[in-house]
Amino acid sequence: MGPFDLSHAPPVGLAERLAPGLRVVTAPNPGPMTFTGTRSYLLGEGEVAVIDPGPDDPRHLDALARALAGERVAAVLVTHAHRDHSGGARAFAERVGAELLGHGDPVGARRPAMARLAAAGGVDGGEGIDAGFRPDRRIGEGDVLAGPGWTLAALATPGHAADHLSFAWAEGNALFSGDQVMGWSTTLISPPDGDLAAFRASLQRLRARGEAVYYPGHGAPVADPGALMAHVLAHRAGREAEILAALARGPATIAALVAEIYAALGPALRGAAARNVLAHLIDLGERGLAAVDGPPGTGVWHLAG
Ligand SMILES: [Zn+2]
Repeated sequence: MGPFDLSHAPPVGLAERLAPGLRVVTAPNPGPMTFTGTRSYLLGEGEVAVIDPGPDDPRHLDALARALAGERVAAVLVTHAHRDHSGGARAFAERVGAELLGHGDPVGARRPAMARLAAAGGVDGGEGIDAGFRPDRRIGEGDVLAGPGWTLAALATPGHAADHLSFAWAEGNALFSGDQVMGWSTTLISPPDGDLAAFRASLQRLRARGEAVYYPGHGAPVADPGALMAHVLAHRAGREAEILAALARGPATIAALVAEIYAALGPALRGAAARNVLAHLIDLGERGLAAVDGPPGTGVWHLAG
């Protein structure tokens, strides 16, 4: 699996210092999609930005409040409206009296091609989406926030989710990468909110920027993000080649492709694998390499052209 590292064992509910001016508190929500739990970052000392308050779990919101006792929260930021990142954001922002900032329009952020597919039906998706998330203020590409010792610039990085933002921390030469780039696993891309073409473009863009360390939504800091992103892109290209090879042997449903390509995968991750295969097939369809008879999620896919 190359650079993926599954050895992470963070303390849960306690502030862990990662760098000067940066702490993290891990939420008590470990699982197959959340790894060791959501990572809520506390950036700054005394006047703090909180990135991804995490799930709506009073134990976690209490842990964040304890870690921040005596400090002022200047802003609460959300990378994307999935419940494991944004579920507790409104309650936490109100508790600490801070403004809640996020993209705020996941449906409007879809590429037109993905919006058309979603409108046509048969794509499903929507796992983990926090449909009720409403920031106090919508932020997006180019917006900058600053406090003592920290300057954060928002970057639109769709792929895992259409509304996904990453935050570049200038003083730390670092990037808060949300679920877009993580050190323990490649991310889930579940259409129509997940979008493989957008994901590839976001990673190419992030690679060109060159921050030295990434702080992901789940798992340990990524010390060589350039190498990790090169690996992730190569992994996706390999998956695409496997799907094309399988379709060259004959038309297939997504269930049949998953059984063939992900034969070694445990049942807990089969559903996620099916969503990733759908993301690839939609991308191949857009590029004129594959087509489907029936709805994208349940129809029979075949090579095109
Ligand atoms: Zn997540």
